[in-house]
Amino acid sequence: MSDIKRCTRCILPESLSNITFDEEGICNHCRKYEADFKNWDSIKERKFKEFEEILEKAKKLKRPYDVLVPLSGGKDSTYALYLCTKIYGLKTLAVTLDNGFLTRPAKDNIRNALASCNADHIFYSINSKNSSELFKIFTEKTGDFCNACMRGINYSIEFAAKSFNIPLVIKGSGRRVQSVSQIKEVSSLNTASYFANVIRGTDAGNKFRYLSADKNKLEFQKIAGGGSVIFLA
Ligand SMILES: [Zn+2]
Repeated sequence: MSDIKRCTRCILPESLSNITFDEEGICNHCRKYEADFKNWDSIKERKFKEFEEILEKAKKLKRPYDVLVPLSGGKDSTYALYLCTKIYGLKTLAVTLDNGFLTRPAKDNIRNALASCNADHIFYSINSKNSSELFKIFTEKTGDFCNACMRGINYSIEFAAKSFNIPLVIKGSGRRVQSVSQIKEVSSLNTASYFANVIRGTDAGNKFRYLSADKNKLEFQKIAGGGSVIFLA
């Protein structure tokens, strides 16, 4: 392990495809992050103000919930829940997809976080026999099953937001913390249309077609831009 060359900043290894290192041993992904966010300090106050204005708009709609928080039990989504409930006092619904393999520590974290705030919560559990079937097909056909799971997570978000007419979704992820997962070899095909294409004609096709039922509308929203999704929901 120790003789693998790695980025001196983020420890990504040289075995990752399309990685390059500069003379300081820093990788192209770290340098891209630096370039993308070099103005961050000068715009962060404005971004913060815009964020709080969005929260105010959501509150004024007086819907059953102001915000939906997708909750995985990890630190980022738990922080999003904390921010919404404790800092901003938003009426919050959290939603968790259990793909059949959610770990005990994650479930404990979710239970503890919910006990510490006043958010309501939906658990959407896919039976592990069914999800295994789906992951098998994705692995056989594409070599990856992350996108199958992501479709399930996004479906649970779409379902909860629609069911309760929730105007805003706050996730524990964002452009500033996702640079690694945006490497296209690791993840990029996370769309409902892609999901529909992979399962078409397979045994899991009938069982999981509902997860991409709204694919045309979802593609439109994606093209129209993430910002507009906020108040289209
Ligand atoms: Zn790096």
